[in-house]
Amino acid sequence: MSWSGYDEDGSESVPGAPGADGTGAEPASDPWGEPHSSGAALSTNRPRPDFPEPAPLTHHGPARIVALCNQKGGVGKTTTTINLGAAIAEYGRRVLLVDFDPQGALSVGLGRLDPRELDLTVYNLLMQRDVTVDDVLLKTNIDGLDLIPSNIDLSAAEVQLVGEVAREQMLARALAPVIDDYDVVLIDCQPSLGLLTVNALTAAHGVVVPLECEFFALRGVALLMDTIQKVQERLNNKLLIDGFLGTMYDPRTLHAREVLSTIIDGFGDKVFHTVINRTVRFPDATVAGEPITRFDSSSAGASAYRELAKEVLARWPLSGHDG
Ligand code: ADP
Ligand code: MG
Repeated sequence: MSWSGYDEDGSESVPGAPGADGTGAEPASDPWGEPHSSGAALSTNRPRPDFPEPAPLTHHGPARIVALCNQKGGVGKTTTTINLGAAIAEYGRRVLLVDFDPQGALSVGLGRLDPRELDLTVYNLLMQRDVTVDDVLLKTNIDGLDLIPSNIDLSAAEVQLVGEVAREQMLARALAPVIDDYDVVLIDCQPSLGLLTVNALTAAHGVVVPLECEFFALRGVALLMDTIQKVQERLNNKLLIDGFLGTMYDPRTLHAREVLSTIIDGFGDKVFHTVINRTVRFPDATVAGEPITRFDSSSAGASAYRELAKEVLARWPLSGHDG
């Protein structure tokens, strides 16, 4: 079966699988539809459960591997990877961030100003058998937060991997030796559904899908669900959709509330209660090369990602971690 063709433009008629893991609620309405017309009852007022402060850990690992995935660019994948990762690390978890986008925005956002200068990146880890995770791992300025960086070299991997045996499993194999050292691994995917993203989905236990609360938020999501379902069926039957995350939300506009409401109508409990508001502090933090939890620790953006950290830690089955 060929994995080529993931980059094709998403067709809205592809039947999606919001509950493809078997645990999600059936969509209450057409999840691919356009936002409600004004005046309809909105679903954005659902009560937020009280997510507990994450309990301290007595030991670390094995990690839950989570892919941040949406083939649309600019929806908050990288911002969420950095800031959710940093917030989870604040709760005493060991976190590994994997930059899996040749643009290297995650590496830049964590202070690697010129990723081109890096000798070894995730590309070498994937393609060279003598390169180990320890060779490419970098510490960040945040306690408990490590990075596997990326740069433009990775753009060649997509083509080069095609000839490899078990080409979809390359990342999973590369990460396996350090899984016991971390509690959470977050993979920042590139904006495509190509072989690199399939590698991330094959390595992952869960997928988090950031959705920008703008008009075209759900465009292409059907194709993403289709890809996830194929990976579940053929490569990784443990893969779950952890949740959909509303990003760049502006609570003052009816439009944003309608879009978020449509997302909730479509995906129900799979939509995180935490929503990330639009604020210029995120681009500012990127320029500073720091997570917002460090750059502006008391900002609304920092607390939003701490809330998301509490929510995901409450949801994720981190078996064997507590106690
Ligand atoms: P992706 O990785 O999906 O392409 P990014 O996380 O890089 O998206 O976000 C795209 C741009 O939007 C970046 O400049 C980022 O700083 C900015 N951004 C991300 N989240 C927010 C937000 N909640 N509010 C305002 N700007 C944001
Ligand atoms: Mg990105």
